[in-house]
Amino acid sequence: MPDNYLPHQTIQSFAPPVRTLLGPGPSDVPQRVLAALARPTIGYLDPAFVAMMEELKSLMRYAFQTRNALTFPVSGPGSAGMEMCFVNLVNPGDKVIVCRNGVFGGRMIENVERCGGVAVVVDDEWGKPVDPAKLAAALAANPDAKVVAFVHAETSTGALSDAATLCRLAHEAGCLSIVDCVTSLAGVPVLVDEWGADAVYSGSQKCLSCAPGLSPITFSERVVEKIKSRGRKAQSWFLDLDLLLGYWGETTRTYHHTAPNNSLYALHESLLMVAEETLPAAWARHRRNHLALRAGLEQLGLGFVVDEAHRLPQLNAVSIPEGVDDKAVRASLLQDHGIEIGAGLGPLAGKIWRIGLMGYSSREENVLHLLAALESVLAAQGRSVTPGAAVAAAQRSYQG
Ligand code: PLP
Repeated sequence: MPDNYLPHQTIQSFAPPVRTLLGPGPSDVPQRVLAALARPTIGYLDPAFVAMMEELKSLMRYAFQTRNALTFPVSGPGSAGMEMCFVNLVNPGDKVIVCRNGVFGGRMIENVERCGGVAVVVDDEWGKPVDPAKLAAALAANPDAKVVAFVHAETSTGALSDAATLCRLAHEAGCLSIVDCVTSLAGVPVLVDEWGADAVYSGSQKCLSCAPGLSPITFSERVVEKIKSRGRKAQSWFLDLDLLLGYWGETTRTYHHTAPNNSLYALHESLLMVAEETLPAAWARHRRNHLALRAGLEQLGLGFVVDEAHRLPQLNAVSIPEGVDDKAVRASLLQDHGIEIGAGLGPLAGKIWRIGLMGYSSREENVLHLLAALESVLAAQGRSVTPGAAVAAAQRSYQG
């Protein structure tokens, strides 16, 4: 065998270092979910697997708070869920109003254009929620629009938008709605039926605390009707809902692609954990830990990017103080304390940190660990901090 095809291999078996994941995702995956991943692989048409698929759909309906029959996990990350919505709902020439207040709204515009649609962009400042008045104005100016798309929880800034109002405006104008709930699902209320949302996707790796790589998705009856009457094939074979229905539908189980079985066991387990905790308790836990983190960060002199009223509890974007070295702080947190936090994206790169308290990562011990670590790293950067004050403030928040 020629030498140049020999692998250059130093790792005998990859053992990742122990980390505490407090960035924008993935979040920490609990042992119970990791154990589910390691169970024996069986066939994707095995009756035992098919029975699990049915339960998985029902657990997903609970997480999304919907009775939508067409609710299933896409075999791919959140970006695949996003793309599935656009390739099935946007026909060439369709006008789509996209609300953009961060990175992920920008990706929606890309999707519209790649589907041959025409994007009408409603821009809001990064760090602010989508302004419903601007959407209303865009709908009035574009009565031929077919779809409205927006991000419920903008992970690039930590801003939460009013999905109920935005979906209502879309429907009053006769549009279908596409809603990105990648970061919001199970961290704050996602009420698909109450909102009347039409196409909603999420990701496995955020507040569900499952391994990355799956995208829970749900579609209303209105979407099913639109797909039945579209009279053409979707431009993507893999993401064509018509074809996928044969595998994930109510009555049929025909081969479409080899399902990522073990990942689906893990998603089932993580959704079971959400159902056992209950959604209201999970939302309250995310809020409680956010408030304690906020109390500690204030002691360290770190201010939030987003106004209190629109702040995501699971994604805390804070401004990096003048004179503090962004990369050095993140590197020290990772190397010296085993904690990952996120950097800013796009225009916010170097200006903010994104601290995630998502799913299983949203725990008191993580909040206290991060505050203690951040205090020592900021002190090493020459910031004046009162030793112990941040942790004490967080503890007072938990007690009060
Ligand atoms: N939408 C939002 C709001 C996100 O935060 C992300 C990922 O962080 C995505 C979409 C894309 O998800 P994925 O990275 O799983 O493809």
